[in-house]
Amino acid sequence: MTRSSFNPQPAGAASQPPSSAGPALAATLDAALAAAPSLDARLRLIAEHVPGRVAFSTSLGIEDQAVFAAIATADLPFDVFTLDTGRHFPETLETLDATEARYGRRIRVVFPEASDVEALVARDGIMGFRQAIENRKACCDVRKVRPLNRALVGAAGWITGLRRDQSAGRAHVPFAAWDANQNLIKLNPIADWSLETLEAYVSDNAVPLNALHSQGFPSIGCQPCTRAIRPGEDIRAGRWWWENEDGKECGLHNRPKVKDAAA
Ligand code: SF4
Repeated sequence: MTRSSFNPQPAGAASQPPSSAGPALAATLDAALAAAPSLDARLRLIAEHVPGRVAFSTSLGIEDQAVFAAIATADLPFDVFTLDTGRHFPETLETLDATEARYGRRIRVVFPEASDVEALVARDGIMGFRQAIENRKACCDVRKVRPLNRALVGAAGWITGLRRDQSAGRAHVPFAAWDANQNLIKLNPIADWSLETLEAYVSDNAVPLNALHSQGFPSIGCQPCTRAIRPGEDIRAGRWWWENEDGKECGLHNRPKVKDAAA
């Protein structure tokens, strides 16, 4: 198949009507979450004040495992889902299984559309994402962004495990902000956690973790696109390491100026 015959669908999923109350609520929640004394308190605030379905997308990495542990322990009624790109490490799927067993709660698994994957692989090849940034972004779009958008349709809130010190690009992540692309409030209840705080939390609560974290993988994505990092490297240096450092996001969280949007 030629490049031109591959016809990607629009990545956007803003099918909800615009909300005038959403940005104001996001600003209020941003301040409230900052003042809340614990992760549990922050999640309860979200459950109480965000009207409608609140989704939590977990990558099963250490940050999201901490957030999920708090959600499951408090039995909060969030729509928890994970994206199965089809290219995960076996250890990541083992983490999913162990997490469900540990907390007695099913995590919804969202897959890409088979026809999208088939068209992409027919165009670029099974490892085509290494040949050009354009190809890599197309792969992330098909395997991650579109399934995420589909899973978020109709949600009023979207919880993530983003932290400010994960990378320079996440240094200004707010606790809550209006996401005009998804037409919902994006909520980051551990935005201010340091790595030390996170590690203490998962240790104190015996949270199951991906075995790769102890093998030099602080950030775990798809198997072909993730390597272990060396001492002193940025914690996201092992993601798409053949690309330039700037803009190494998969499209799930690279919304521009989300903090400004909350103002
Ligand atoms: S991380 Fe790699 S394999 Fe996974 S969706 Fe993106 S380009 Fe494809």
